[in-house]
Amino acid sequence: MPAPANLSHGRAYLAIPGPSVVPDRIQRAMHRTAPNIYEGELHALTGSLWPDLRALACTEQNVACYIGNGHALWEAVNTNLFSRGDKVLVLASGVFGLGWANVAKAMGVDVEVMDFGRSAAPDMGRVEARLRADGAGEIVAVLTTHVDTATSARTDIAALRAALDRAGHPALLAVDCIASLGCDEFRMDAWGVDVAFAASQKGLMLPPGVGFVWFSEKARAVGRKAGLRTPYWDWAPRADGPEFWQYWHGTAPTHHLYGLREALSMIVHEEGLANVWARHEVLARTVWAAFDAWGQGHGRIALNIADPASRARAVTSARLGAPDGQALRQWCETRAGVTLGIGLGMATPEDPESAGFLRVAHMGHVNAHMTLGVLAVMEAGMQALGIPHGKGALEAATAVVAQAAGA
Ligand SMILES: *Cc1c(COP(=O)(O)O)cnc(C)c1O
Repeated sequence: MPAPANLSHGRAYLAIPGPSVVPDRIQRAMHRTAPNIYEGELHALTGSLWPDLRALACTEQNVACYIGNGHALWEAVNTNLFSRGDKVLVLASGVFGLGWANVAKAMGVDVEVMDFGRSAAPDMGRVEARLRADGAGEIVAVLTTHVDTATSARTDIAALRAALDRAGHPALLAVDCIASLGCDEFRMDAWGVDVAFAASQKGLMLPPGVGFVWFSEKARAVGRKAGLRTPYWDWAPRADGPEFWQYWHGTAPTHHLYGLREALSMIVHEEGLANVWARHEVLARTVWAAFDAWGQGHGRIALNIADPASRARAVTSARLGAPDGQALRQWCETRAGVTLGIGLGMATPEDPESAGFLRVAHMGHVNAHMTLGVLAVMEAGMQALGIPHGKGALEAATAVVAQAAGA
């Protein structure tokens, strides 16, 4: 018998932090001809989405939807909140925080970036000190990522709220939840968040193309003065309707809505949000356990975020050293049918392509066998490629799953 050319044939697994795996039942729900957009089923279905979208963000406030990806949402939020020259404070811990800052700058907003580097979450002591120094209250809003998908750093949003409150600062709190909603615990109202947003292709398990912005009454009031607002991006008619076309400012993303109905049923009504968070937590810890073992005695291999409290539950960024990160990714894809995320924004003079990093997603429609499968494939790849690594990673990973799942 000849040796197989590779072992990738079978069901492929895209283990990258978006787009994430689209469940079969969501695909089936979207597989239909064009529905009537004037009346009937689509209107009833759309009406059922709003309460579940609120439940997803743990809010009773406003939600506006957009046809667009995550980059569109940065612009949507900036447009609805700011005027040219307004001052905002951006807390960045990776390329996504910096990306939002750059979009705001390009729109004429006066952006101050507090950059916490590429391997740490924002330090609330420093943030509080900065807010206290703004006695005149010039800062209109604090913008941050809940999870920066590039570094997998997670901002403690409740602690950020507490820092704003201790400083007595009235700034709005706006949070990019694109990589975290439906994965990491997030409570918009309890944490005093004014604006949060998410895109369809991450925790929501849909194809890319639809985005959601939740906003508080305070944000609505502050935003009434926003000089950057334009008719297309205006969130008020999108949130309030009442005409069906107003929710989308034009034709609805018809097929996405059928998929979204299914996704929200799965998350909010069937598994339940708390269980969804708990599943992501366990799968994240499974991945961390494997990396900790691989790094034992092999310091080249390490999780990017050392402090577990500051790690995302939806994606893990890790260092293997160049060129091993890239080589292992390629091996996993071509030999074993699993695609890992590229290193993003981790370039150094010695590693201009971020080839020493990779990311393992555990985001959305993912379960224990998928995550354990990815880790076992990575271990096989390290063996095949001769990448030195510590032993016992799979034992450590399976122990996390065994303990969490119980008897
Ligand atoms: C994915 C992501 C974005 C960008 O979304 P696109 O759909 O690629 O435009 C922005 N912010 C965060 C935190 C993300 O994870």
